[in-house]
Amino acid sequence: MSNFLGDVGRQIQKKALDQDKGSDEQIAKLERRSKAQLASLEDHFRIVVLQVMSELTNNGWKPVVFWGVRTPEQQEKLHDKGVGAKKSLHVHETQKIVHRAGWSYVQTGEAADIVDARYLWTGPAEDLNFRFWVELGEAAERRGLEWGGRWTNRDVAHVQCAHYEPIIKSKKGKRDDTPYQAVPNRTVVA
Ligand SMILES: [Zn+2]
Repeated sequence: MSNFLGDVGRQIQKKALDQDKGSDEQIAKLERRSKAQLASLEDHFRIVVLQVMSELTNNGWKPVVFWGVRTPEQQEKLHDKGVGAKKSLHVHETQKIVHRAGWSYVQTGEAADIVDARYLWTGPAEDLNFRFWVELGEAAERRGLEWGGRWTNRDVAHVQCAHYEPIIKSKKGKRDDTPYQAVPNRTVVA
């Protein structure tokens, strides 16, 4: 008897989850959000993000951009809630100092958070090794983007296009003269 009730309970729970998370309405809402977030990105980055999304769509996923550009205020608010780094490439003004192989660089660039509209970060997507995250990382890295899923503090939805300007010459290591690409003005979606 209790097994039967358990099954009914699970069915109701599953139905509620399907209705809320995977509903056409929810997906349509997220697709509208995705369009606005995509519009906030610079052309060169948006083109690559769209290629990544199209590959995922072909694999049967429903990718949407949940976050593109953020204002410093949005970033601060999210960081206070424990989401995202204090300094993030989602914010135009961000200039981060990063260290690699005896060198220090000023990092600038852009970022996007891509999720499947049916799950976002819930259900099967709570597993950081969920197939969607793995395929997102592969599709992004194949196109030269950095994937947050490789970070110590794994951020599996996050992809970024970063530019590095070397600032300190090391005794060891070879100088990396990758030209610094200035990032032109972009628009912000509130
Ligand atoms: Zn992100």
